[in-house]
Amino acid sequence: MQFIKLAEYYDALEGVSSRLKMIDIMSDLFKESEPSEIDHIVYITQGVLAPPFEGREFGVAEKMAQEAIALATGYTKENVELDFRKSGDLGKTAESFVSKSKLKRMNSSKPDVSEVYNSMIKISSISGKGSKEQKIKTLANLVASSSPVEARYLIRYPLGQLRLGLGDATMLEALSVMENGDRTLKEELEKAYNICSDLGLVAKEMKSKGIKAIKEFSVTVFKPIRPALAERLPTAEEILEKMDGECAVEQKYDGFRCQIHKKGKHIEIYSRRLERTTDMFPDIASAALKEVHAYEAIFEGEALAYNDSTGEFMPFQETIQRKRKHGISEKAIDLPLKLMAFDLMFENGKSYINEPYEKRRAKLEQLLEGSDTIKPSKRIITKSAKELDDFFSTSVTDGLEGIVAKDLKAPYVAGARKFSWIKLKRSYQGELSDTLDLVIVGYYRGRGSRTEFGFGGLLCAVYNETRDMFETVSKIGTGFTEEQMQELSKTLGSIEQKSKPARVDSITEPDFWVYPKYVVTVKADEITRSPMHTCGIAIQKDGTKSGYSLRFPRLVGETTIRRDKSPEEATTTKEIEELFSQQKKVRVSDK
Ligand code: ATP
Repeated sequence: MQFIKLAEYYDALEGVSSRLKMIDIMSDLFKESEPSEIDHIVYITQGVLAPPFEGREFGVAEKMAQEAIALATGYTKENVELDFRKSGDLGKTAESFVSKSKLKRMNSSKPDVSEVYNSMIKISSISGKGSKEQKIKTLANLVASSSPVEARYLIRYPLGQLRLGLGDATMLEALSVMENGDRTLKEELEKAYNICSDLGLVAKEMKSKGIKAIKEFSVTVFKPIRPALAERLPTAEEILEKMDGECAVEQKYDGFRCQIHKKGKHIEIYSRRLERTTDMFPDIASAALKEVHAYEAIFEGEALAYNDSTGEFMPFQETIQRKRKHGISEKAIDLPLKLMAFDLMFENGKSYINEPYEKRRAKLEQLLEGSDTIKPSKRIITKSAKELDDFFSTSVTDGLEGIVAKDLKAPYVAGARKFSWIKLKRSYQGELSDTLDLVIVGYYRGRGSRTEFGFGGLLCAVYNETRDMFETVSKIGTGFTEEQMQELSKTLGSIEQKSKPARVDSITEPDFWVYPKYVVTVKADEITRSPMHTCGIAIQKDGTKSGYSLRFPRLVGETTIRRDKSPEEATTTKEIEELFSQQKKVRVSDK
């Protein structure tokens, strides 16, 4: 497929305000693509060069893209910069400069998608002295031979600002429509995606080998599995009831989630977001080599700082110091880690993800016999609420976060939040016991003393997995520091949209809409019913229509924007509904 064709599809997607229409356009695009290029199309649409675990970065900054546009069109950098200040979108700026280019269009042959993709790979792999200039030149060459609409996406792509507003779920549905004309294959496709985390690969298999290959998809070493997630319940009694009267209860450690892949002498460690973090944890990697008795293995655990003299785990604020790019080995001596392993998914050619927890755990313990740095998580198996509560209290007294209860019979549920794992955390009276991760979908202009920051508050949403839509749940207008206001105004300004993005459902209108891209962590006092928000909206007994909203929401967390979570990993509508009903129960039992 010629790149211009892809650019035309993207242009059509940008004009669409319904998610169903997006699926139609994407399925037509997939139908028209060749098996040899569909993976490239998927990566470009995702705005990446490869799945996150490959860690391939473009290494192209805004300034470099501006220079490339200038070089390709015969204008100065200053001309381009000035236009960009007005448009706020370097893609649009590129489009307008190409349409009025002072230079003759280079090379009239139209590049196809894979040629463009390979040039982008080339740009990403240029390194060393003079690399900046070379990257600019290669990008300028692409722009110089492109049409205006192609230029828009050639510039947006390496900047990671494609502005299509598509999520992985939409693409999976589009693949199903491509193959079957309806959405019935989505579940199978999702399963395959959950165990390889590579949407390009799933699309390629589907296109070239059909649904049979997707159904036979298996776990592979060095393709990270999308992590299983935990539900919440407020009491030991409810946890036991949900688990049919008996469950395992593991200590909950607060550190970095690590998924470790081992094959012979090769070790890789992936984060909760499936990014390759092997270099950050040399001590864990070498322990995995020495202490794990298997040639091949995939297992998971939480890495956290440990005080060898007192035998205590350290709080997250200490562990976080290990997240660094420089001085890694010094810090590893200063602040040694332990990995508390809690699951096993693969061992010597055999996938364990469909085996029950008890079997996975037994194998994990066997693999870790006599180990020191990597230990199985501490746990009990119980039928008693009192015993569960006591284990929880001891864990909290030991400085841990709480417990995770596990269904003895459940498989490893990749990429989903299910009741096979239930977390119980320390709770703070009078407040919601857990923080929420919300997606920013809009923001408000600064008024009064905030005028200078151009920022007055956020409109935030949760993710509805069933609808693949973002439903608003709260405005956040207080508690920002000046630095946070400046950061938010700058960051959000660059992803502004003229109208409501297709996957946002809202009755509230902010001053500016933004793409659902950034996640913030929020604490609130309680969840209330509100007619202003679309999260869980339903007709009430009294005939009025209302959704959920937050009382006294405020930003919390180490950073303003939580960059380790994608919008689809934010708190879901279902979780808000559950938290609301737990809140009611707690109140009733308080009385
Ligand atoms: P989530 O990961 O559920 O989206 P979150 O990032 O806010 O939410 P938590 O609410 O703290 O994290 O709870 C889940 C996390 O707890 C897991 O992702 C994992 O990193 C960590 N964890 C610690 N100990 C365990 C354990 N024994 N079993 C499973 N997970 C554990």
